[in-house]
Amino acid sequence: MKVLVINAGSSSLKYQLIDMDTQAVLAKGLCERIGLEGSCLKHTPSGKDAVTITEAMGDHSDAIKLVIDALIDAEHGVISDMKEIDAVGHRVVHGGEFFNGSVVITDDVKKKIEECNVLAPLHNPANLIGIEACQKTMPGVPMVAVFDTAFHQTMPAEAFMYGLPYEMYEKHKIRKYGFHGTSHYYVANRCAALMNKPIEELKIITCHLGNGSSITAVKNGKSVDTSMGFTPLAGMLMGTRSGVIDPAIIPFIAEKEGMSVDEVNNMLNKKSGVQGISGVSSDFRDLEAASKEGNKRAALALAMFEYQVKRYIGFYAAAMGGVDAVVFTAGVGENSIDLRGRILSGLEFMGITCDAEKNNVRGKDAEISKDGAKVKCFVIPTNEELTIALDTQKLLA
Ligand code: AMP
Repeated sequence: MKVLVINAGSSSLKYQLIDMDTQAVLAKGLCERIGLEGSCLKHTPSGKDAVTITEAMGDHSDAIKLVIDALIDAEHGVISDMKEIDAVGHRVVHGGEFFNGSVVITDDVKKKIEECNVLAPLHNPANLIGIEACQKTMPGVPMVAVFDTAFHQTMPAEAFMYGLPYEMYEKHKIRKYGFHGTSHYYVANRCAALMNKPIEELKIITCHLGNGSSITAVKNGKSVDTSMGFTPLAGMLMGTRSGVIDPAIIPFIAEKEGMSVDEVNNMLNKKSGVQGISGVSSDFRDLEAASKEGNKRAALALAMFEYQVKRYIGFYAAAMGGVDAVVFTAGVGENSIDLRGRILSGLEFMGITCDAEKNNVRGKDAEISKDGAKVKCFVIPTNEELTIALDTQKLLA
């Protein structure tokens, strides 16, 4: 079975074609500037050189057609006919309280995804456009929606409710949803496999640290708390997002700076985080370099990031009544040897250790805790596309 995994944004569309028999990625790519001038497709077939195809893409249907043309192209294609694509798995950001797992896409499912548009106005409408473009171009091919929020639907009410008047939940569904669920689910299960233990017997803290970061407490295979909230702005300080702040700061800034609520919201999402603190960059490689050269604000941004991850590890160990494993994943988690070492140091009282030699690793599955440690620490590269493809295969079996 071959599954096409689609992640549609408002003007972009990422894809991977996965052969489920071998779990190999046959080709992957990215359409950029859809609906804008200068749109192009970067297509990378496995074992062949990447190609850039510059062609106008007026909408997502044009983009999908171009992707299929690239997949079946005589030179840089990897299949000979569109009919070889057995199913499509779509990443959908928000499933609200409707979906606690992946689902086969029907008209009713699409209606519910649309109802969640208000909860993820930047993402869900684009995800729906991607679904409809695929349905139009590949009629009859079964499609599955895999939600970023679904894994976190197991959180108990005491973890997902905010201390607001209850009507705010009833009227507007204001509650914590959590994001990056596909990634947390994948690495938690991979962690259990590496530990050779059933996930139902484990307490795992998964740290997805990238440009966007979130940390999840996975108890007995279920998400019981996570750091992102009603939106992906909550929780950790991130690349450009503030993470949790005192909510009273928002009207205070609006008044002092003469800004509208929208402007403050934009500042919290795009001009804050390690970028806002350092004034250097949102990229952790730049921050590490600047900090080494003596830039104090870059060093502060890194110290704040490290401190906040540490705080969540303590928080979630308490929430689960212990911890058996800590997992690092995503761009920063998989690659920043220095930050991982700093995050784990000082947690020895909890049985958490970091072996400097084992920690000298990037982008592959590795245990980094000291031999015989009470709590196992791992680096596990995330694989959201494979998780989407596996869910798609499972649902259509
Ligand atoms: P993601 O959002 O998961 O793609 O992660 C992107 C982040 O990973 C960026 O901020 C990068 O700076 C960071 N990253 C990638 N490689 C490294 C590295 N070698 N050391 C530190 N951070 C890295």
